[in-house]
Amino acid sequence: MENQLFIYNSLSRKKEAFKALNSPHVGMYVCGPTVYGNAHLGHARPAITFDILFRYLQHLDYKVRYVRNITDVGHLENDMDDGEDKIAKKARLERLEPMEVVQYYTNSYHRSMRQLNVLDPSIEPQASGHIIEQQQFIDRIFESGFAYEKNGSVYFDVKKYNEKYKYGILSGRVLEDLQSNTRNLEGQDEKKNPFDFALWKKASPDHLMRWPSKWSVGFPGWHLECSTMGTKYLGDEFDIHGGGLDLLFPHHECEIAQSTAVHGKSSVRYWMHNNMITLNGQKMGKSLGNAVSLDDFFSGKHPLLEKAYSPMSVRFFMLQAHYRSPLDFSNEALISAEKGLERLFRGIETLEKIQPSSKSDIDFKQFESKCYHALNDDLNTPILISHLFDGLKQINDLKEGKISIHSDDLNNLQSLYKTFVENILGLIHENSGKGSELTAVLIETILTIRQEAKLKKNFETSDQIRNALTSLGIEIKDKKDGFDWELKSTT
Ligand code: ZN
Repeated sequence: MENQLFIYNSLSRKKEAFKALNSPHVGMYVCGPTVYGNAHLGHARPAITFDILFRYLQHLDYKVRYVRNITDVGHLENDMDDGEDKIAKKARLERLEPMEVVQYYTNSYHRSMRQLNVLDPSIEPQASGHIIEQQQFIDRIFESGFAYEKNGSVYFDVKKYNEKYKYGILSGRVLEDLQSNTRNLEGQDEKKNPFDFALWKKASPDHLMRWPSKWSVGFPGWHLECSTMGTKYLGDEFDIHGGGLDLLFPHHECEIAQSTAVHGKSSVRYWMHNNMITLNGQKMGKSLGNAVSLDDFFSGKHPLLEKAYSPMSVRFFMLQAHYRSPLDFSNEALISAEKGLERLFRGIETLEKIQPSSKSDIDFKQFESKCYHALNDDLNTPILISHLFDGLKQINDLKEGKISIHSDDLNNLQSLYKTFVENILGLIHENSGKGSELTAVLIETILTIRQEAKLKKNFETSDQIRNALTSLGIEIKDKKDGFDWELKSTT
Protein backbone atom coordinates (compact mmCIF):
# COMPACT_ATOMS: atom_id res chain seq x y z
CA MET A 1 0.00 0.00 0.00
CA GLU A 2 1.28 3.41 -0.93
CA ASN A 3 0.12 4.99 2.28
CA GLN A 4 1.56 3.04 5.16
CA LEU A 5 0.25 4.39 8.42
CA PHE A 6 2.51 4.16 11.45
CA ILE A 7 1.03 4.54 14.91
CA TYR A 8 2.68 4.76 18.28
CA ASN A 9 1.68 1.74 20.32
CA SER A 10 1.68 2.52 24.05
CA LEU A 11 2.16 -1.18 24.71
CA SER A 12 5.39 -1.68 22.74
CA ARG A 13 6.36 1.99 23.27
CA LYS A 14 7.32 2.46 19.65
CA LYS A 15 5.82 3.40 16.32
CA GLU A 16 4.53 0.38 14.45
CA ALA A 17 3.27 -0.07 10.91
CA PHE A 18 -0.50 -0.36 11.17
CA LYS A 19 -1.79 -3.65 9.87
CA ALA A 20 -5.49 -4.39 10.24
CA LEU A 21 -6.37 -7.83 11.56
CA ASN A 22 -9.14 -8.31 9.02
CA SER A 23 -8.32 -5.76 6.38
CA PRO A 24 -10.18 -3.80 5.06
CA HIS A 25 -12.18 -4.01 8.30
CA VAL A 26 -10.84 -2.21 11.35
CA GLY A 27 -12.19 -2.45 14.90
CA MET A 28 -11.57 0.57 17.07
CA TYR A 29 -12.67 1.16 20.66
CA VAL A 30 -12.33 4.42 22.55
CA CYS A 31 -13.25 5.06 26.17
CA GLY A 32 -16.02 7.64 26.13
CA PRO A 33 -17.18 10.04 28.82
CA THR A 34 -18.56 9.35 32.28
CA VAL A 35 -21.72 11.40 31.91
CA TYR A 36 -22.19 13.37 35.11
CA GLY A 37 -21.23 16.88 33.95
CA ASN A 38 -20.99 19.08 30.87
CA ALA A 39 -18.39 18.13 28.29
CA HIS A 40 -15.15 20.07 28.74
CA LEU A 41 -11.82 20.33 26.96
CA GLY A 42 -10.65 17.07 28.50
CA HIS A 43 -13.48 15.31 26.64
CA ALA A 44 -12.82 17.14 23.40
CA ARG A 45 -9.22 15.98 23.04
CA PRO A 46 -9.74 12.19 22.84
CA ALA A 47 -12.90 12.73 20.79
CA ILE A 48 -11.01 14.86 18.24
CA THR A 49 -7.86 12.71 18.26
CA PHE A 50 -9.75 9.53 17.45
CA ASP A 51 -12.07 11.37 15.08
CA ILE A 52 -8.99 12.17 12.99
CA LEU A 53 -7.94 8.52 13.10
CA PHE A 54 -11.50 7.39 12.22
CA ARG A 55 -11.63 9.82 9.30
CA TYR A 56 -8.11 9.01 8.08
CA LEU A 57 -8.58 5.22 8.21
CA GLN A 58 -11.75 5.64 6.15
CA HIS A 59 -9.87 7.88 3.75
CA LEU A 60 -7.35 5.03 3.36
CA ASP A 61 -10.33 2.84 2.36
CA TYR A 62 -10.63 0.88 5.59
CA LYS A 63 -14.10 0.00 6.79
CA VAL A 64 -14.03 1.06 10.40
CA ARG A 65 -16.33 -0.06 13.18
CA TYR A 66 -15.79 2.63 15.77
CA VAL A 67 -17.15 1.88 19.25
CA ARG A 68 -17.13 4.68 21.81
CA ASN A 69 -18.88 3.91 25.05
CA ILE A 70 -20.88 5.95 27.51
CA THR A 71 -19.95 5.23 31.13
CA ASP A 72 -23.11 5.52 33.15
CA VAL A 73 -22.46 3.17 36.04
CA GLY A 74 -19.63 1.90 38.19
CA HIS A 75 -17.21 4.83 37.89
CA LEU A 76 -16.54 5.66 41.51
CA GLU A 77 -15.22 8.95 42.76
CA ASN A 78 -11.57 8.07 43.25
CA ASP A 79 -11.15 5.87 40.14
CA MET A 80 -10.31 2.92 42.39
CA ASP A 81 -13.03 1.00 44.16
CA ASP A 82 -13.87 3.60 46.69
CA GLY A 83 -16.30 6.46 47.12
CA GLU A 84 -19.71 7.14 45.69
CA ASP A 85 -20.69 6.44 42.09
CA LYS A 86 -20.10 9.71 40.19
CA ILE A 87 -23.52 9.61 38.53
CA ALA A 88 -25.41 8.51 41.62
CA LYS A 89 -23.81 11.35 43.57
CA LYS A 90 -24.94 13.93 41.02
CA ALA A 91 -28.43 12.40 41.05
CA ARG A 92 -28.58 12.57 44.85
CA LEU A 93 -27.40 16.18 44.95
CA GLU A 94 -29.80 17.32 42.23
CA ARG A 95 -32.66 15.06 43.31
CA LEU A 96 -32.85 13.38 39.94
CA GLU A 97 -33.18 9.82 38.78
CA PRO A 98 -29.63 8.62 37.89
CA MET A 99 -30.80 7.90 34.33
CA GLU A 100 -32.01 11.49 34.06
CA VAL A 101 -28.48 12.61 34.84
CA VAL A 102 -27.14 10.16 32.27
CA GLN A 103 -29.57 11.28 29.57
CA TYR A 104 -29.05 14.98 30.22
CA TYR A 105 -25.27 14.88 30.03
CA THR A 106 -25.21 12.38 27.17
CA ASN A 107 -27.33 14.82 25.16
CA SER A 108 -25.06 17.66 26.15
CA TYR A 109 -21.97 15.64 25.17
CA HIS A 110 -23.47 14.82 21.77
CA ARG A 111 -24.33 18.48 21.17
CA SER A 112 -20.78 19.59 21.96
CA MET A 113 -19.25 16.86 19.79
CA ARG A 114 -21.41 17.78 16.81
CA GLN A 115 -20.43 21.43 17.22
CA LEU A 116 -16.79 20.30 17.11
CA ASN A 117 -17.62 18.35 13.92
CA VAL A 118 -16.69 15.05 15.60
CA LEU A 119 -18.30 12.22 13.64
CA ASP A 120 -20.67 9.91 15.50
CA PRO A 121 -19.15 6.53 16.33
CA SER A 122 -20.59 3.41 14.68
CA ILE A 123 -21.82 2.06 18.03
CA GLU A 124 -22.18 3.94 21.31
CA PRO A 125 -22.95 1.34 23.98
CA GLN A 126 -23.85 2.20 27.55
CA ALA A 127 -22.44 0.26 30.49
CA SER A 128 -25.87 0.02 32.12
CA GLY A 129 -27.23 -1.65 28.99
CA HIS A 130 -24.66 -4.45 29.29
CA ILE A 131 -25.05 -5.68 32.86
CA ILE A 132 -25.78 -9.27 31.81
CA GLU A 133 -22.77 -9.38 29.48
CA GLN A 134 -20.58 -8.01 32.27
CA GLN A 135 -21.85 -10.70 34.65
CA GLN A 136 -21.04 -13.32 32.01
CA PHE A 137 -17.56 -11.85 31.67
CA ILE A 138 -17.10 -12.22 35.44
CA ASP A 139 -18.19 -15.86 35.15
CA ARG A 140 -15.43 -16.42 32.63
CA ILE A 141 -12.84 -14.75 34.87
CA PHE A 142 -13.99 -17.10 37.65
CA GLU A 143 -13.53 -20.04 35.25
CA SER A 144 -9.97 -18.93 34.52
CA GLY A 145 -9.33 -18.78 38.27
CA PHE A 146 -8.53 -15.09 38.66
CA ALA A 147 -11.68 -13.92 40.47
CA TYR A 148 -12.74 -14.37 44.08
CA GLU A 149 -15.84 -13.44 46.03
CA LYS A 150 -15.99 -11.77 49.41
CA ASN A 151 -19.24 -10.68 51.12
CA GLY A 152 -21.15 -10.48 47.84
CA SER A 153 -18.46 -8.50 46.01
CA VAL A 154 -16.13 -9.99 43.39
CA TYR A 155 -12.50 -8.97 42.95
CA PHE A 156 -9.78 -9.65 40.43
CA ASP A 157 -6.81 -11.50 41.92
CA VAL A 158 -3.93 -9.40 40.59
CA LYS A 159 -1.19 -11.30 42.41
CA LYS A 160 -2.32 -14.66 41.07
CA TYR A 161 -2.66 -13.18 37.59
CA ASN A 162 0.85 -11.73 37.84
CA GLU A 163 2.23 -15.20 38.51
CA LYS A 164 0.94 -16.51 35.18
CA TYR A 165 0.93 -13.36 33.05
CA LYS A 166 2.64 -10.13 33.86
CA TYR A 167 0.56 -7.37 35.42
CA GLY A 168 1.68 -3.83 34.50
CA ILE A 169 2.81 -4.38 30.89
CA LEU A 170 1.11 -1.20 29.68
CA SER A 171 2.05 1.21 32.46
CA GLY A 172 5.39 -0.39 33.28
CA ARG A 173 4.41 -0.57 36.95
CA VAL A 174 5.56 -3.52 38.95
CA LEU A 175 3.50 -5.19 41.59
CA GLU A 176 6.05 -4.75 44.37
CA ASP A 177 5.92 -0.96 43.94
CA LEU A 178 2.14 -0.98 43.79
CA GLN A 179 2.03 -2.95 46.99
CA SER A 180 3.86 -0.29 48.93
CA ASN A 181 2.19 2.66 47.19
CA THR A 182 -1.43 1.66 47.43
CA ARG A 183 -3.17 3.14 50.41
CA ASN A 184 -5.38 0.80 52.33
CA LEU A 185 -8.66 2.56 51.70
CA GLU A 186 -11.64 2.20 53.91
CA GLY A 187 -13.84 -0.75 53.01
CA GLN A 188 -11.05 -2.36 51.03
CA ASP A 189 -10.23 -4.97 53.63
CA GLU A 190 -12.32 -7.42 51.63
CA LYS A 191 -9.50 -7.54 49.11
CA LYS A 192 -6.67 -10.04 49.39
CA ASN A 193 -4.34 -7.30 48.22
CA PRO A 194 -4.90 -3.54 47.99
CA PHE A 195 -4.15 -3.53 44.24
CA ASP A 196 -6.91 -6.04 43.46
CA PHE A 197 -9.81 -4.38 41.71
CA ALA A 198 -13.57 -4.85 41.82
CA LEU A 199 -15.43 -6.76 39.15
CA TRP A 200 -18.74 -6.62 41.02
CA LYS A 201 -19.58 -4.56 44.09
CA LYS A 202 -22.37 -5.33 46.52
CA ALA A 203 -24.55 -2.23 46.77
CA SER A 204 -24.85 -0.54 50.15
CA PRO A 205 -28.47 0.10 51.25
CA ASP A 206 -28.41 3.72 49.98
CA HIS A 207 -26.70 2.94 46.65
CA LEU A 208 -29.07 4.02 43.87
CA MET A 209 -27.89 2.02 40.86
CA ARG A 210 -28.20 -1.71 41.49
CA TRP A 211 -28.88 -4.95 39.68
CA PRO A 212 -29.47 -8.50 40.87
CA SER A 213 -26.71 -11.06 40.40
CA LYS A 214 -25.71 -14.47 41.76
CA TRP A 215 -23.26 -12.73 44.11
CA SER A 216 -25.39 -9.86 45.44
CA VAL A 217 -27.61 -6.98 44.43
CA GLY A 218 -24.93 -4.64 43.22
CA PHE A 219 -23.17 -3.07 40.26
CA PRO A 220 -20.22 -3.82 37.98
CA GLY A 221 -16.70 -2.47 38.46
CA TRP A 222 -15.70 0.38 36.16
CA HIS A 223 -12.94 -1.41 34.22
CA LEU A 224 -15.18 -4.30 33.28
CA GLU A 225 -17.47 -2.43 30.89
CA CYS A 226 -14.79 -1.70 28.31
CA SER A 227 -13.43 -5.28 28.22
CA THR A 228 -16.98 -6.55 27.89
CA MET A 229 -18.33 -4.12 25.30
CA GLY A 230 -15.08 -3.99 23.32
CA THR A 231 -15.00 -7.74 22.76
CA LYS A 232 -18.78 -7.99 22.34
CA TYR A 233 -18.81 -5.60 19.38
CA LEU A 234 -15.30 -6.02 17.96
CA GLY A 235 -14.38 -9.63 18.70
CA ASP A 236 -12.00 -11.34 21.11
CA GLU A 237 -9.10 -9.61 19.41
CA PHE A 238 -9.41 -6.22 17.74
CA ASP A 239 -7.19 -3.55 16.23
CA ILE A 240 -7.16 -0.29 18.17
CA HIS A 241 -8.04 0.82 21.69
CA GLY A 242 -7.76 4.49 22.52
CA GLY A 243 -8.33 6.91 25.33
CA GLY A 244 -6.77 9.67 27.37
CA LEU A 245 -3.41 9.16 29.03
CA ASP A 246 -5.14 9.44 32.42
CA LEU A 247 -6.88 6.14 31.64
CA LEU A 248 -3.69 4.19 31.02
CA PHE A 249 -3.46 3.23 34.66
CA PRO A 250 -5.37 1.69 36.29
CA HIS A 251 -8.24 1.54 33.78
CA HIS A 252 -6.51 0.13 30.70
CA GLU A 253 -4.07 -1.96 32.69
CA CYS A 254 -7.03 -3.65 34.37
CA GLU A 255 -8.76 -4.10 31.00
CA ILE A 256 -5.70 -5.97 29.72
CA ALA A 257 -5.69 -8.21 32.80
CA GLN A 258 -9.41 -9.00 32.48
CA SER A 259 -9.24 -9.79 28.78
CA THR A 260 -6.04 -11.80 29.10
CA ALA A 261 -7.59 -13.79 31.95
CA VAL A 262 -10.50 -14.74 29.68
CA HIS A 263 -8.86 -14.99 26.25
CA GLY A 264 -5.31 -15.97 27.19
CA LYS A 265 -3.99 -12.86 25.46
CA SER A 266 -4.65 -9.13 25.36
CA SER A 267 -7.58 -8.34 23.09
CA VAL A 268 -5.98 -5.21 21.69
CA ARG A 269 -3.29 -4.86 19.02
CA TYR A 270 -2.56 -1.12 19.23
CA TRP A 271 -3.05 0.95 22.36
CA MET A 272 -3.21 4.68 21.70
CA HIS A 273 -3.32 7.50 24.24
CA ASN A 274 -3.79 11.21 23.80
CA ASN A 275 -1.96 13.51 26.19
CA MET A 276 -3.66 15.86 28.63
CA ILE A 277 -4.75 19.48 28.47
CA THR A 278 -3.82 22.26 30.84
CA LEU A 279 -5.47 25.66 31.10
CA ASN A 280 -3.13 28.61 31.58
CA GLY A 281 -0.53 26.09 32.73
CA GLN A 282 -2.83 24.56 35.35
CA LYS A 283 -4.15 21.05 35.41
CA MET A 284 -7.89 21.19 34.82
CA GLY A 285 -10.30 20.00 37.42
CA LYS A 286 -13.54 20.88 39.07
CA SER A 287 -11.89 21.22 42.45
CA LEU A 288 -9.38 23.69 40.97
CA GLY A 289 -12.16 25.95 39.74
CA ASN A 290 -10.83 26.01 36.18
CA ALA A 291 -12.99 23.35 34.57
CA VAL A 292 -14.25 25.30 31.57
CA SER A 293 -16.99 23.51 29.69
CA LEU A 294 -17.12 23.48 25.91
CA ASP A 295 -20.35 25.50 26.11
CA ASP A 296 -18.37 28.12 28.06
CA PHE A 297 -15.78 28.25 25.29
CA PHE A 298 -18.41 28.61 22.58
CA SER A 299 -20.30 31.32 24.49
CA GLY A 300 -17.33 33.05 26.15
CA LYS A 301 -19.23 33.07 29.45
CA HIS A 302 -16.47 32.16 31.87
CA PRO A 303 -14.25 34.47 33.91
CA LEU A 304 -11.11 32.82 32.51
CA LEU A 305 -12.13 33.55 28.93
CA GLU A 306 -11.68 36.92 27.23
CA LYS A 307 -14.21 36.13 24.51
CA ALA A 308 -16.16 33.35 22.82
CA TYR A 309 -14.23 30.90 20.65
CA SER A 310 -15.87 29.04 17.81
CA PRO A 311 -15.89 25.23 17.90
CA MET A 312 -13.68 25.23 14.80
CA SER A 313 -11.05 27.42 16.52
CA VAL A 314 -10.99 25.01 19.45
CA ARG A 315 -10.70 22.04 17.09
CA PHE A 316 -7.98 23.70 15.02
CA PHE A 317 -6.07 24.69 18.13
CA MET A 318 -6.02 21.07 19.32
CA LEU A 319 -4.84 19.82 15.95
CA GLN A 320 -1.93 22.24 15.99
CA ALA A 321 -0.36 20.04 18.67
CA HIS A 322 0.50 16.40 18.22
CA TYR A 323 -1.97 14.25 20.15
CA ARG A 324 0.82 12.73 22.27
CA SER A 325 2.05 16.15 23.42
CA PRO A 326 0.58 18.02 26.35
CA LEU A 327 -1.40 21.08 25.31
CA ASP A 328 -1.92 24.32 27.18
CA PHE A 329 -4.97 26.45 26.52
CA SER A 330 -4.82 30.20 26.91
CA ASN A 331 -6.71 33.13 25.43
CA GLU A 332 -3.60 34.23 23.59
CA ALA A 333 -3.04 30.83 21.99
CA LEU A 334 -6.70 30.51 21.00
CA ILE A 335 -6.79 33.95 19.42
CA SER A 336 -3.76 33.10 17.34
CA ALA A 337 -5.33 29.77 16.33
CA GLU A 338 -8.45 31.66 15.29
CA LYS A 339 -6.41 33.94 13.03
CA GLY A 340 -4.42 31.03 11.59
CA LEU A 341 -7.59 29.16 10.73
CA GLU A 342 -9.10 32.19 9.04
CA ARG A 343 -5.93 32.55 6.97
CA LEU A 344 -6.18 28.90 5.92
CA PHE A 345 -9.80 29.33 4.81
CA ARG A 346 -8.99 32.54 2.96
CA GLY A 347 -6.18 30.72 1.13
CA ILE A 348 -8.61 27.99 0.08
CA GLU A 349 -11.04 30.62 -1.23
CA THR A 350 -8.22 32.22 -3.20
CA LEU A 351 -7.24 28.82 -4.60
CA GLU A 352 -10.79 28.36 -5.94
CA LYS A 353 -10.39 31.53 -8.01
CA ILE A 354 -6.97 30.81 -9.55
CA GLN A 355 -6.96 30.56 -13.35
CA PRO A 356 -4.96 27.69 -14.89
CA SER A 357 -2.11 28.31 -17.29
CA SER A 358 -0.30 26.22 -19.90
CA LYS A 359 2.78 25.60 -17.77
CA SER A 360 3.16 24.62 -14.13
CA ASP A 361 5.67 25.71 -11.50
CA ILE A 362 4.08 23.52 -8.84
CA ASP A 363 5.39 20.08 -7.89
CA PHE A 364 2.04 18.70 -6.86
CA LYS A 365 3.13 15.10 -6.30
CA GLN A 366 5.84 16.14 -3.90
CA PHE A 367 3.45 18.38 -1.96
CA GLU A 368 0.83 15.63 -1.77
CA SER A 369 3.33 13.06 -0.53
CA LYS A 370 4.56 15.44 2.20
CA CYS A 371 0.98 15.82 3.45
CA TYR A 372 0.38 12.07 3.54
CA HIS A 373 3.75 11.49 5.11
CA ALA A 374 2.81 13.76 8.03
CA LEU A 375 -0.40 11.87 8.81
CA ASN A 376 1.21 8.49 8.25
CA ASP A 377 3.77 9.40 10.86
CA ASP A 378 1.51 8.73 13.86
CA LEU A 379 -1.11 11.31 12.82
CA ASN A 380 1.23 14.26 12.93
CA THR A 381 -1.41 16.95 12.39
CA PRO A 382 0.86 19.91 13.31
CA ILE A 383 3.28 18.95 10.53
CA LEU A 384 0.42 18.48 8.10
CA ILE A 385 -0.93 21.91 9.04
CA SER A 386 2.48 23.49 8.54
CA HIS A 387 2.67 21.98 5.02
CA LEU A 388 -0.79 23.34 4.26
CA PHE A 389 0.40 26.78 5.40
CA ASP A 390 3.53 26.50 3.25
CA GLY A 391 1.20 25.80 0.34
CA LEU A 392 -0.61 29.09 1.05
CA LYS A 393 2.54 30.98 0.06
CA GLN A 394 2.41 29.32 -3.36
CA ILE A 395 -1.29 30.04 -3.65
CA ASN A 396 -0.51 33.68 -3.00
CA ASP A 397 2.25 33.66 -5.61
CA LEU A 398 -0.22 32.10 -8.07
CA LYS A 399 -2.74 34.81 -7.31
CA GLU A 400 -0.17 37.51 -7.91
CA GLY A 401 0.92 35.88 -11.15
CA LYS A 402 4.48 35.23 -9.94
CA ILE A 403 4.16 31.52 -10.75
CA SER A 404 1.71 29.48 -12.82
CA ILE A 405 -0.14 26.19 -12.63
CA HIS A 406 -1.75 24.05 -15.29
CA SER A 407 -5.29 22.81 -14.97
CA ASP A 408 -4.53 19.24 -13.80
CA ASP A 409 -2.32 20.43 -10.97
CA LEU A 410 -4.83 23.13 -10.09
CA ASN A 411 -7.67 20.62 -9.82
CA ASN A 412 -5.47 18.30 -7.79
CA LEU A 413 -4.40 21.08 -5.45
CA GLN A 414 -7.97 22.25 -4.93
CA SER A 415 -9.11 18.75 -4.10
CA LEU A 416 -6.10 18.14 -1.83
CA TYR A 417 -7.00 21.14 0.32
CA LYS A 418 -10.62 20.08 0.43
CA THR A 419 -9.69 16.50 1.36
CA PHE A 420 -7.18 17.32 4.06
CA VAL A 421 -8.82 20.38 5.59
CA GLU A 422 -12.49 19.43 5.42
CA ASN A 423 -12.62 15.66 5.23
CA ILE A 424 -9.66 14.58 7.35
CA LEU A 425 -8.98 17.44 9.75
CA GLY A 426 -12.74 18.05 9.85
CA LEU A 427 -12.43 21.83 9.68
CA ILE A 428 -15.37 23.62 8.13
CA HIS A 429 -15.67 27.29 7.34
CA GLU A 430 -18.74 28.20 9.33
CA ASN A 431 -18.67 31.97 9.24
CA SER A 432 -17.60 32.49 5.69
CA GLY A 433 -18.56 35.89 4.33
CA LYS A 434 -21.12 34.16 2.13
CA GLY A 435 -23.21 32.40 4.77
CA SER A 436 -24.57 28.96 4.03
CA GLU A 437 -24.44 27.34 0.64
CA LEU A 438 -28.17 27.83 0.11
CA THR A 439 -27.93 31.51 1.05
CA ALA A 440 -25.07 31.96 -1.42
CA VAL A 441 -26.97 30.27 -4.26
CA LEU A 442 -30.08 32.36 -3.60
CA ILE A 443 -28.18 35.64 -3.45
CA GLU A 444 -26.29 34.86 -6.62
CA THR A 445 -29.53 34.00 -8.44
CA ILE A 446 -31.06 37.30 -7.39
CA LEU A 447 -27.93 39.22 -8.36
CA THR A 448 -27.91 37.58 -11.78
CA ILE A 449 -31.49 38.77 -12.33
CA ARG A 450 -30.37 42.24 -11.26
CA GLN A 451 -27.48 42.06 -13.70
CA GLU A 452 -29.87 41.21 -16.53
CA ALA A 453 -32.21 44.03 -15.53
CA LYS A 454 -29.30 46.46 -15.68
CA LEU A 455 -28.28 45.25 -19.13
CA LYS A 456 -31.85 45.89 -20.29
CA LYS A 457 -31.57 49.33 -18.71
CA ASN A 458 -34.35 48.44 -16.29
CA PHE A 459 -32.75 50.50 -13.52
CA GLU A 460 -35.90 50.57 -11.43
CA THR A 461 -35.77 46.81 -10.91
CA SER A 462 -32.02 46.74 -10.46
CA ASP A 463 -32.14 49.45 -7.76
CA GLN A 464 -35.06 47.75 -6.07
CA ILE A 465 -33.03 44.54 -5.78
CA ARG A 466 -29.95 46.40 -4.58
CA ASN A 467 -31.93 48.20 -1.85
CA ALA A 468 -33.63 45.04 -0.69
CA LEU A 469 -30.34 43.15 -0.42
CA THR A 470 -28.53 46.06 1.26
CA SER A 471 -31.23 46.23 3.90
CA LEU A 472 -30.53 42.55 4.61
CA GLY A 473 -26.87 43.33 5.25
CA ILE A 474 -25.60 42.16 1.87
CA GLU A 475 -22.96 44.39 0.35
CA ILE A 476 -22.89 44.36 -3.46
CA LYS A 477 -19.79 45.36 -5.39
CA ASP A 478 -20.35 46.04 -9.07
CA LYS A 479 -17.43 45.09 -11.27
CA LYS A 480 -16.90 45.55 -14.97
CA ASP A 481 -17.37 41.84 -15.68
CA GLY A 482 -20.16 41.16 -13.21
CA PHE A 483 -20.51 41.49 -9.47
CA ASP A 484 -19.20 40.35 -6.12
CA TRP A 485 -20.94 40.42 -2.79
CA GLU A 486 -20.42 39.85 0.90
CA LEU A 487 -22.65 39.25 3.85
CA LYS A 488 -21.92 42.11 6.23
CA SER A 489 -24.33 41.25 9.00
CA THR A 490 -25.31 37.70 9.76
CA THR A 491 -28.25 38.49 12.02
ZN1 ZN B 1 -12.74 2.38 29.20
